Amino acid sequence: MHVVPVPALADNYIWLLHDDSGNAIVIDPGEAAPVEAALSARKLALRAVLLTHHHPDHIGGAERLRDNDGVPVYAPDDDRIAVATHRVKDGETLTLQQPSAHFDIIAVPGHTLSHIVYVGEGVLLCGDTLFSLGCGRLFEGTPTQLLSSLQGLASLPGDTLVCCGHEYTAANGRFALTVEPDNAALKQRLDEVARLRAANRPSVPSTLSSELACNPFLRVDSKDVADWCSRHGASNDPVARFATLRSAKDAFRA
Ligand code: ZN
Ligand code: FE
Repeated sequence: MHVVPVPALADNYIWLLHDDSGNAIVIDPGEAAPVEAALSARKLALRAVLLTHHHPDHIGGAERLRDNDGVPVYAPDDDRIAVATHRVKDGETLTLQQPSAHFDIIAVPGHTLSHIVYVGEGVLLCGDTLFSLGCGRLFEGTPTQLLSSLQGLASLPGDTLVCCGHEYTAANGRFALTVEPDNAALKQRLDEVARLRAANRPSVPSTLSSELACNPFLRVDSKDVADWCSRHGASNDPVARFATLRSAKDAFRA
């Protein structure tokens, strides 16, 4: 399966997955035009749309793609996603024929309550739950929920490609470096991100193993992150550390 990030809106990525026979799916099309352009440039036929959560920057183009291409739209069971033709839920496996693919559905409450991710074909399609070097804002869920959701993703194979919904890596990295200024893997990743962005290339997908080494939100039990959190008022508890990190990132401007 080929995995292509299609830039859209201000800083979104719509993920395009396709096989060698011209069959494609897209994940979180916040707008239709960039998808249509990417499909025609590669001579691909769209076969399905997959949605992770209800925010407009992730679903805005789904109706036009559904109606023009006659494709199914898979989404979590949430009335705010009226464009869906098929509902999927935690624990199910979504099987597609063209392209031939299987995706496990995992509920990841936190950024929103009904957010799901799709895991299969070596990729994690994670919407706004996990970002490279960061995680989603807590719009609807609690720190307990989002930490638990992220911990579930952290147990996937290390070579899983992390396909997230936004190009936030450089800004996330500036915050991560304030938490772990001595993390060599993080510094190396930031050099790579700077090179990619200077060449106008996406910083993602990353790998799960890279995120485990560099992303403070997946590292609340590591010594340097735990020490930083306790200096910033967190009690000696993973959820308290995670909540402290998340609110510090919300307030961070640099
Ligand atoms: Zn969102
Ligand atoms: Fe988003």
